[in-house]
Amino acid sequence: MPRSREALESAGLLLLGLCGLGVGARSLAPPRLDLSPSEEVAPPPGGWPSMHDPEPVVRYELRARLDPELHVVDGEGRIELRNVADVPLRELRMHLYLNAFKNDATIFRRARTAGFRGEVAGAPGLIDVKKLALVGAGGVEEELWQKRELVSHRGESPQDPLRAEDAPPVPGAPDDETDVRVPLPREVPPGASITLAVAFHDELPEISERTGYRGSFHFVGQWFPKLAKLERDGTWAAFPFHHVAEFYADFGSYDVTLDVPDRFVVGATGPLVETRREGDRRIERHVQDRVHDFAWTAWDRFVVRDAQEGPVKIRLLSPPGYELAVDRELQSVRGGLRELGARYGAYPYDVLTVVHPPDVASEAGGMEYPTLITTGGPWWPAHGSHEVEAVTVHELGHQWFYGLVASNEVAWPAGDEGFNSFAEQLVMRKLVGEGTAVSLGPLQLSYLTLARPGAAAHFEEPIFQPADRVANGGSYGMRVYGATAVALETLRRSYGEARFDAAMGAYARQQRFAHPGPEDFFRALETWVSSDCARAARAALTTPTTLDFSVERVTAAPRHAPKGIFDRPGPAERTRDPKLAGYEGFAGSVWIARRGVVDLPVTVELRFADGAARRETVRFGERVWLRLDTDGPTELVAAIVDPDLAIPLDRDRTNNFLATRRVGTTAVTRERATAWIGLLARGAGW
Ligand SMILES: [Zn+2]
Repeated sequence: MPRSREALESAGLLLLGLCGLGVGARSLAPPRLDLSPSEEVAPPPGGWPSMHDPEPVVRYELRARLDPELHVVDGEGRIELRNVADVPLRELRMHLYLNAFKNDATIFRRARTAGFRGEVAGAPGLIDVKKLALVGAGGVEEELWQKRELVSHRGESPQDPLRAEDAPPVPGAPDDETDVRVPLPREVPPGASITLAVAFHDELPEISERTGYRGSFHFVGQWFPKLAKLERDGTWAAFPFHHVAEFYADFGSYDVTLDVPDRFVVGATGPLVETRREGDRRIERHVQDRVHDFAWTAWDRFVVRDAQEGPVKIRLLSPPGYELAVDRELQSVRGGLRELGARYGAYPYDVLTVVHPPDVASEAGGMEYPTLITTGGPWWPAHGSHEVEAVTVHELGHQWFYGLVASNEVAWPAGDEGFNSFAEQLVMRKLVGEGTAVSLGPLQLSYLTLARPGAAAHFEEPIFQPADRVANGGSYGMRVYGATAVALETLRRSYGEARFDAAMGAYARQQRFAHPGPEDFFRALETWVSSDCARAARAALTTPTTLDFSVERVTAAPRHAPKGIFDRPGPAERTRDPKLAGYEGFAGSVWIARRGVVDLPVTVELRFADGAARRETVRFGERVWLRLDTDGPTELVAAIVDPDLAIPLDRDRTNNFLATRRVGTTAVTRERATAWIGLLARGAGW
């Protein structure tokens, strides 16, 4: 999903308004992105970890027929499952996520959306399973669906995001039919496989929360009975469909045959391997292995553009009249495939489909599926805003952080959305420069600059926590997306950019086709950066994150010659001549404070009356304040904590600078400018 597009838009539009409207008349050509080869992302000492193929767990072979007038999909096929757990399997858990749109009492519909997507409830949608049977020897089918049980109450599973610690297992949402348990008639031993025969009937909702129809446009996601993720210990990671939570599944292969009216253009996961006409229908078969989901779209008005980037066939589908936006999306995808590939390992699939949904179906935009992403934005050249590029790069980035590094998006949403927002910023900075959000002449604002104050202001919840624990949709956008990116960028600048980039690259390669959790990430930092960095990361990401460094006091005074009784060798005297005793000059002190528990190396710059500056790197450890003393010929006049903005996680930068008198330094201007931008962004609803 895109990070807080609405919020970014409102901040961007506010700034555009402030800066005047004289920019619209410029050339219609899209901004040119920097597609030159990037600097090599160096591996860690010892080289990149090797990448493995996934263990194939599931195999879906489905046939689906779309009726675009009734907006229904009828499907049937087979699902194979291998028991990769260490224990016998006694039941299946299946997700029927289209049922989230069935009525107003589903867990999804009861959510408080707070500006996130999914607010508009149009025509309902549902999935009706017509058959689920175990296929035995000789193709004999054994009915399973009769014994199904809805799992809609709290406290069901340790991984259930709705589980409240002390909640009794009473019905929480009895009308939610998105999470189903199906008992198996016999145990399936470890290593053995079963085959299921399925038939289902989908009624697509009017476009809501990524899926559905509007007019003849159809986006078909979460559309088939899908097995939950089978964990190694034999438990199922299963979740009801929740407003902000996304998905989690096993890797496997999808062989899907789609049947649509011939005039419809189809975009789908995986390459088209077979196509034929049958009367006024067209049958398309798409096959893709090493993925964990399959989505598709069909519309009779799509304009198709094909392109190639290295070995990857790119297909862009857009409404008519969006050529300028498609130009920008293609450039973004080209640049993104190169940059993300260099950082996190090459894109491993042959195809990539980029879907720009029509405006009336923008809820389908900004979403990721294996080898298929949806983007969005205006057709017109929005000078100064890089929204189209940012959304496209973000969704492309999910091919790595979601698609390949397949973390549990419900239990740990920061592991995909947050890491991906961080990656998006690195790529965008290469492609468009510092102004990754707004770029208007001298005004260059990065998404991180805009995200920083908002990320700090929202409830101060831990960044790593299950999706449903986050206070609301707005907070989800701020914490999971913005604050993760800000925290990772803080670690990157504090512990060395090259080293941190190498660690992230190593993590992405090591965990390719795997399902890592937060501990795998901390271990990666420990291995490839340092245990100190891993410790700081843990504090920044798992505790309620308030971090604020401030200069509390700066003092300076001429040194006085010491008075008293001195018995040391030398002429007997009661007052020493400061000149002779080396006490000429000034003594100064700076008190700096830290609020919060994240312990990082912090740079303090001390400025003196003669224009000289001195830097020291300090650590707070367990302390909340530190004092730095100076003795020297010139007077200490000011102190700046974090002069290079290495700690974007520092929530308030207005208190990072203090002077004993008026001093004209660029640092002051910079401090004031950052603080002003922060306040402005906060005013814009962040
Ligand atoms: Zn996303």
